[in-house]
This record gives sequence, C-alpha cells and structure tokens, in this order.
Amino acid sequence: MPLERVTSAFLRRPSLLIIGASVLSLALAALTALSLWEMRTDALARARDAADNLSLILQRDIARNIEVYDLSLQAVIDGVREPAMVALPPAVRQLVLFDRSTNAQDLGSLLVTDKVGDVVLDSRSVPPRHIHLGDRDYFQVHRGSANVGLYISEPFTPRVTCLDTSLGLSRRLNGPHGEFNGIVVGTLRLNYFRRLFDGINLGPHATVTLIRTDGTLLMRRPYSEKLIGRSLADAVAFQKRLLTPQGSYVDVASLDGIERLFSFRHIGDHPLIVTVGLATEDIYAEWRQRAWVISGIVLMLDAVFMVLSFLLAQQLCKRLEMEQQLHLLANTDSLTGLGTRRALDSALDVEWRRANRHHTPISVLMIDVDDFKPYNDKYGHAAGDTALRTVARCINDSIKRPGDFAGRYGGEEFCAVLPNTDLSGALRVAESIRTAVLRADEPNAGSAYGKLTVSVGVASHSGIAAADDTVQDLIHLADGRLYEAKAAGRNVVIPRQERPKLAVV
Ligand code: GH3
Ligand code: MG
Ligand code: MG
Repeated sequence: MPLERVTSAFLRRPSLLIIGASVLSLALAALTALSLWEMRTDALARARDAADNLSLILQRDIARNIEVYDLSLQAVIDGVREPAMVALPPAVRQLVLFDRSTNAQDLGSLLVTDKVGDVVLDSRSVPPRHIHLGDRDYFQVHRGSANVGLYISEPFTPRVTCLDTSLGLSRRLNGPHGEFNGIVVGTLRLNYFRRLFDGINLGPHATVTLIRTDGTLLMRRPYSEKLIGRSLADAVAFQKRLLTPQGSYVDVASLDGIERLFSFRHIGDHPLIVTVGLATEDIYAEWRQRAWVISGIVLMLDAVFMVLSFLLAQQLCKRLEMEQQLHLLANTDSLTGLGTRRALDSALDVEWRRANRHHTPISVLMIDVDDFKPYNDKYGHAAGDTALRTVARCINDSIKRPGDFAGRYGGEEFCAVLPNTDLSGALRVAESIRTAVLRADEPNAGSAYGKLTVSVGVASHSGIAAADDTVQDLIHLADGRLYEAKAAGRNVVIPRQERPKLAVV
C-alpha cells in the first residue's frame, strides 16, 4: 500500500516529518497569500465598476439638464425671430418667450442681447435691466464665429446679483442673412453641481470633480471655495482625461496627494469632464481588515501545525532510539558483545536466501572452546567468562567484510556466517580465528597445549541449492566437522587446508 509506505517512511525519519510539515505550512501560506491577492484585485475591480457607474449617472444627469436648458435657449431664439412675437405687448411677449423652466432652481436669468452686447430681453424683468455683456467671453466667441452652437462659458460672478458663481450657456442670434444679431444667454449656478455631488454617498476620502476641458476646476466634492476656478491644466492626470471620452486609472491626486482610482467621462460634446475618485485607502479598507484576520488565523494554524510536528518528531526520535536500544539488547549477547542466538538464526536465514537468490557462495564456521570445562573448574566461572570474551574478540577481529556476522551459538560455542565466501576463504578466516586465540596466550592447564584454544568446523555451499538443501544442513555439516576437529586432537580447523607443496630442488 503506497499510503502505508509513505506513513512508515515518515515514522522512520522524523526529519522527513518536519520537512513535510514545513512544506505544507509554506504551501498553505502561499495559497492564502494568493487568495488574498485575488481578493484585493477583486476589490479594485468592484470599485472600478462602482466609479464607472457613478460617473455615467452623473454624466447623464448633467447632459440632460444642459439639453433641457439648451431647448429653452433655442425656444427663445425661435421666438425672437418671429415678427409676430416682436409685435406683442412686452408683458405678453415675456410670458411666451420665457417658459417657467427658466425659473427652476440653480438656473439664473435668461438674457437676449443686441449686436453690441446690451441686454434687450430679460426673463426676470420687464423692461430689461441695464446690463452690458459685450466684454464677456461667450459674447465675443459668438460674435467671432457663426458655428459655435451651444457655448459653455468660463465660470463668472453674475453682474446683477454678484452672488453664486455660474456658467453661461449661450447661443448666437443670426439675422436673416446669417449676420451677427446678438446672443441668447442663460446662467447655470455651480451650486447645481455642488448639490448633485453632495448627495452621493461615497467613502470618506472620495472626490467628485467637474473640470472644463481647459483645466478649470468648476466643482469639487468635498467642496472647497478656494479650489473653484483653479487651473489643473498642468497636472499630468488631467492631461490623461483629455485623450479619451472616458476611462479610469489609479494615480495620486495633485490637489491633496491621496492615491485614488479615477473614473472620468466627458459630458457629450460639451467642454466638461466629470470625474469620480475613490481613495485606494477606502477601497482596500475592508479587504485589509479581512486580510489581517485571515493571515493571522493561517499563521496561527501554521505555527500550531509546526509546533505539533516538532513535538511529534521529538516523540518519534525518542521512540526510534528506544527501538534501536531494544533491538540492540535483543540481538547482542551481553557477555561477549557478539550476536545472540536469535540474531544469528535470522542472519543465517537472510544470508542463505540471498546466496540462493544471487547464486553466490556462503560459508559457516562452528567454533568451540577446547577443554573449557576443566578451564572453568580450575580458574573459576568469572575467569571463564573473561576467556569467552577474549575468544569473541578474536572472532570479531578476524571477520572483516561488511556482510560477515558472528553470534554465540550457545555456551562456549560460536558461529560465524560468511556470505559471498567460498570454502578456501572460509578456511582462511577459521585459521585466523584459531591462531588469534592461540596468540592470546591464555593459559589452560586442562589442555594438552597448555593454552586456551578453539576448534573450528567449516562448511560451504555454492549458492546453487538443490530443492531440498537447507541452511540447517549447512550448520549440521559444520557441526560434524567441529566434532572431527575435536576427535583430531583439538586446536584445529576441519577440513584441513591444503598446504602448498614445497618444490624439491
Ligand atoms: P571440548 O574440548 O570437547 O569442547 O571440551 P569442553 O570441556 O569444552 O566440553 P563441553 O563443551 O562439554 O564444556 C562446556 C563447558 O563450557 C560447560 C561449562 O562449564 C562451560 N560454559 C558454558 N557456558 C559458559 C559460560 O557462559 N561461562 C562460563 N564461564 N563457562 C561456560
Ligand atoms: Mg568445548
Ligand atoms: Mg561445547
């Protein structure tokens, strides 16, 4: 089962657990960061939609009011051209020429001038007030060109009331042959825009502005009297608004240094641009709050997860250490430090099967201490234990290959497993053990040699086993040869190694 394998790999290597937990924590943090970034992008997109919609509504409202006012101007032009109208008594003519829409809030007087700029008809007074408009920009524009159409003037303070800065909306009066006969002009108070803008519910740092295409600021929300009439012609942001009929962009406002998302629209063909500006600080306020909460929770979860992983890894380390100690205890003979009988059986089984799998030779050495009973009787059991440790060291020093294994078979009998070793190799190892014990020079009064010695029975197998061959057969063979060694006088390795014959010279 792959899942079981993965779990056991993690359980066997606590460092893997910490690496895995760190990768998961990082992935969670990265995923959260990505989601938060998308939420931020969404917040900006939603704000852009809101600003676009609002600028569209404002544009339509302003355009419709200008259109209505323009219709009144055109009605006056049509009336003035009508000879019958001119013949009417002044009071009646007043009623017919100026309908009641010109009395609407934020609309000023509607005036008709002659060709030098003197007012000849006045919606608010019969006879007309004495007003001269010959110096006004809108008068001069119409006098200079017949093709201006509806002209929206620069903001000015009306001469009559000296109150409420207004815009003039004017059209040219043509004579029968197209010659200049004066103008019709009406005023629209900037207050209209102020009321329009103030009624909108936006964030605390939002702005709405109306700018003439020459850069003159006509109205701004929040209202500031000293800003009205100021020129923004040099501002880079303003230049952007001249390029296309509508658009949006994020920039720092030149008036207050606050970064905003601006959505602007030109009002029809008129020289007016309405712009809605939403502060990015307001746009991201809600997102920022959520981002703090979400990232706080995720970081906390990550931290808890990491701490738990560390604790688990620590426990696993302790468990593995204990397992290793238990394994060592269960597999190491406490007296000699060699493998126990259990470990020996297991090594024999593993190596026998490996040898048969790979068809490699395997050898077994059965080693028995000679005349050990008399040794114990003479020198005592404790000295006997020390002698066994000496023999074990001699065995251990003689088997050097990585796969070699030596264990205590029982009492003063030992067994060595030599994988990938044929008989001649095994005999060399056996001989090396025998001579090492002899060289240890432990006295044994009960032995014919006067010293502690061992006898070794050696058996090998080619690794190409017949069906009924077992590792027990191999051990049995080695054991039989050990008995032969004892019978042959001890301190000997059976089978005997063939010595090279000396050449007779
Ligand atoms: P042989 O040369 O034929 O092997 O003679 P032996 O005296 O060694 O004969 P045997 O194998 O019958 O003797 C085994 C003795 O080894 C019996 C016991 O006194 C001793 N012995 C077995 N295990 C231990 C041990 O753990 N410590 C000590 N000190 N002696 C042990
Ligand atoms: Mg013995
Ligand atoms: Mg014995």
